[in-house]
Amino acid sequence: RTVIETQGLGWRYDPSREGQAPVQALRGVDLSIEAGQFVGLVGPTGAGKSTLCMALTGIVPSLAEGRMSGTVRVMGRDTRTTGVVELSRHVGYVQQDPESQLFCASVEDEIAFPLESRGVDPSLMDALIDDALDAVGMRAFRRRQPTQLSGGQMQRVAIAAALVGRPDVLVLDEPTAALDPDGRREVMEALDSIRRREAQGGRPMTIVMAEQHTECFLGRADRIVALDRGGVFADGGMEVFDTMR
Ligand code: ADP
Ligand code: ADP
Repeated sequence: RTVIETQGLGWRYDPSREGQAPVQALRGVDLSIEAGQFVGLVGPTGAGKSTLCMALTGIVPSLAEGRMSGTVRVMGRDTRTTGVVELSRHVGYVQQDPESQLFCASVEDEIAFPLESRGVDPSLMDALIDDALDAVGMRAFRRRQPTQLSGGQMQRVAIAAALVGRPDVLVLDEPTAALDPDGRREVMEALDSIRRREAQGGRPMTIVMAEQHTECFLGRADRIVALDRGGVFADGGMEVFDTMR
């Protein structure tokens, strides 16, 4: 079962100021991501990892500054003609900067917010919040303020918020880049625990994760996609790392 499919995906950033040249951040990307895969997205800075993550979610904040070409389908739906609310049912998105994606007064509000925006019955809310925080080992922090948390704890809350709507796929854009080694380990262990739980439920979570710290993919990723200058340079198992040296 294909969860995300891109065909000839291109992305151009137009200059925001005169005299700047446009940047072709992605070119001709054809990818098909199958249910249950853990896909590691690697490549040097500027290769297009962030842009690809953003394009895969279809939730494109910077549509005005970029021009997409080709198609992206999430669960068969063309992201260009599918509303953000509908897409957010299928894709969870976690960004690099832990602080910029948490904006509520408490941890529980961060998790409640996506549920409320989808009109979930308030009587179910409590159990869903506990469950999502349990999945990332953050239940004890439910009533804390996000600003009191460490970077690793913030990212785990962001993952819980992305997960609570039970999306088909989780897209993470360098979620550990801003973290120290402890935070990095916490985030990866949280992803392991999510994969285990979802596999037990018979619905393995599909994960697409961009990362500079590629050692975190060892023993975890089923597939490595290497980007270079906006194109797919290699796509396969762990042997992809050998082609990059
Ligand atoms: P990566 O995540 O692999 O570092 P990015 O997707 O962030 O790559 O960037 C790909 C290319 O697009 C780079 O050349 C980068 O400078 C450029 N780029 C990214 N965001 C913007 C933007 N908002 N405006 C202009 N150029 C951008
Ligand atoms: P990442 O490590 O995720 O690729 P970057 O450091 O490339 O992040 O970019 C950080 C932010 O700056 C992003 O919001 C990106 O869109 C923006 N950005 C990156 N390159 C450019 C650029 N050449 N011009 C304008 N904005 C850019």
